[in-house]
Amino acid sequence: MDLNYTVEQIEFREEVRAWLADNVPSTPLESFDTKAGFEAHREWERTLASGNWGMVTWPTEYGGRGCDLIQWLIFEEEYYRAGAPLRVNQNGIFLLGPTLMEFGTPEQKARFLPAMASGEEIWAQGWSEPNAGSDMAAIRCRADRDGDDYVINGQKIWSTRAVYADWVFGLFRTDPSSERHRGLSKILLPLNSKGITVRPIPQLNGLPGFAEIFFDDVRVPVENVLGGEGEGWNIAMATAGFERGLMLRSPARFQQASKRLVELYRRNEEDVVDPAIEEAVLRCYMDAEAYALSTYQTASRLAAGGSIGAEASCNKIFWSQLDLQIHDTALQLLGARGEIEPETDEDKALLGNWLDGFLFAQSGPIYAGTNEIQRNIIAERVLGMPRK
Ligand SMILES: Cc1cc2nc3c(=O)[nH]c(=O)nc-3n(C[C@H](O)[C@H](O)[C@H](O)COP(=O)(O)OP(=O)(O)OC[C@H]3O[C@@H](n4cnc5c(N)ncnc54)[C@H](O)[C@@H]3O)c2cc1C
Repeated sequence: MDLNYTVEQIEFREEVRAWLADNVPSTPLESFDTKAGFEAHREWERTLASGNWGMVTWPTEYGGRGCDLIQWLIFEEEYYRAGAPLRVNQNGIFLLGPTLMEFGTPEQKARFLPAMASGEEIWAQGWSEPNAGSDMAAIRCRADRDGDDYVINGQKIWSTRAVYADWVFGLFRTDPSSERHRGLSKILLPLNSKGITVRPIPQLNGLPGFAEIFFDDVRVPVENVLGGEGEGWNIAMATAGFERGLMLRSPARFQQASKRLVELYRRNEEDVVDPAIEEAVLRCYMDAEAYALSTYQTASRLAAGGSIGAEASCNKIFWSQLDLQIHDTALQLLGARGEIEPETDEDKALLGNWLDGFLFAQSGPIYAGTNEIQRNIIAERVLGMPRK
């Protein structure tokens, strides 16, 4: 294995760095869980698209740059290093996008990918239902065929950013006589369709970061099915593989957070009395670097024709626990000060956004499939242990 970057990769990194230095907003944008913040992030997506940086791995005709996964990792490293805004369209570009690329028809790719890369259409994900979370095969939301349309009825829940998003992709039961994972289809539909009601749900920080979606005789054309009727479960598993195994949480996010943690430690070093904190800082730094190396290995394997399998579950447990560990250590370093939401610029400079990050990190072991479910998958499908 050659761990050195090629000349082309070094030049690519320099190009990304220079573009970001010229374009990243000098002050952080408002949270994308507010209306104003959401639109500010959409505007940032447009700026990215103006340089064809919307999703660098996509072909140029879809708004990308035809980069490979190693270049994508380099882009992400520079992106986080520059402190660029979080991606408001992450459900689209990191989850639906790769699935469309693999299973979409040419018409679907041309219709959806460019608008996704430019932020013109921002996507929500609609899988969970009140009685179908971990047990996703229990989905009951129905899409009944009626001529050239489906008619959708039912409810989704916990749909991230659905309050302000434009489109939703979800799993629906297209065969009414089917059970469990059979008879499901993945359908794409606009959130402003007649018969849809979106009801915000506040997250721990009080902002409406996710929503319930109610479907009441919503009509969707049959060409909005992705990957064929009844194929929804297989397609959803491919999306989950990208989500857990590679794209949703690139290592740069944690490398940058662990570097900020080291800086926080240095600023507070004289007050640290517990040697376990020093060790925890070191462990976070090392784990973030180890995660980066392991991701480079996954990207190389995919480039050589491999695929993401059940081991994506190990990945998901690792990054969600690392995020908890980084933020928990930061709050220990800050002590009581860490419990105050910074308001003035001076407080923000001193305290950073650790509390916000700490609150969000609590959800890491839940979203993208809970860590208990990932452990079941590892036991059965990686280690070959019996179900009971
Ligand atoms: C921040 C955040 C964002 C989210 N965004 C979205 C989104 O955009 N779209 C979407 O569709 N959903 C989203 N979700 C929902 C998420 O996918 C579900 O919360 C998750 O799948 C768990 O489902 P549940 O909440 O119904 O809990 P349940 O499935 O009821 O689980 C409750 C507890 O029981 C445990 N458990 C359940 N079954 C088993 C088992 N067989 N073995 C061991 N333990 C088990 C679980 O691990 C969990 O601890 C989001 C969730 C969060 C927190």
